[in-house]
Amino acid sequence: MAGPMHVLPKNVGWIEVICGPMFSGKTEELIRRLKRAELGQQRVQIFKPSIDRRYGEGQIVSHSEQRLDSTSIERAEELLEHLRPDTQVVGIDEVQFFGADAVRIVERLADRGLRVIVAGLDQDYRGVPFDPMPQLLAVAEYITKELAVCVVCGNPAHRSQRLAADGRRILVGARGAYEARCRACFRPEGDAAPVEAPAQADLPLAAGSAVPEAAR
Ligand code: ADP
Ligand code: MG
Ligand code: ZN
Repeated sequence: MAGPMHVLPKNVGWIEVICGPMFSGKTEELIRRLKRAELGQQRVQIFKPSIDRRYGEGQIVSHSEQRLDSTSIERAEELLEHLRPDTQVVGIDEVQFFGADAVRIVERLADRGLRVIVAGLDQDYRGVPFDPMPQLLAVAEYITKELAVCVVCGNPAHRSQRLAADGRRILVGARGAYEARCRACFRPEGDAAPVEAPAQADLPLAAGSAVPEAAR
């Protein structure tokens, strides 16, 4: 085939991850980036897990009521069925709900030359890293960690406090089920536990014993 196509540089894709606790502005930031891509005449598609039915099926919505049309899918793989051949930018909200499949799919899209922007919770309600966010953060080119405002003390907050007593990892946010908390005000054992200053002696570093040999 003759023509100039083969001398043009390869279209390079990449992965952007926006992470943080609930209320930190992940969806707002995702919407901001996607709207700017549209302003730049890029063809954009947006996906979210259908488990997140908080605001209906057809949109991603921020707590500040910004919204953008989206397609709800059950599994990350369905994204490929809905993907239009001319799409250049893919946005995914609440990506943590897709599990390990998300990493494979997102990498595939970026390898194909798409810009992929994903937003998700990096810690669960106990403060434990929420798979597959650690894996996505590792393979992404660009990562952004947003912080919320601690509702107890006003400091920057990186944790989501569950207010309802419920042991399930996934409890999709009914209004009032979670609030943003900083490290000092967060109670992994539940909100009923009293908020008190952490005792220095309880920290492994102060005790010295939990520091690995090689790190001393
Ligand atoms: P996320 O997607 O991370 O849950 P959103 O983008 O939906 O966050 O919402 C962010 C918005 O939530 C903020 O701009 C603000 O208007 C509102 N908000 C409510 N409570 C808080 C809080 N404790 N800290 C920060 N923002 C909050
Ligand atoms: Mg959000
Ligand atoms: Zn606090």
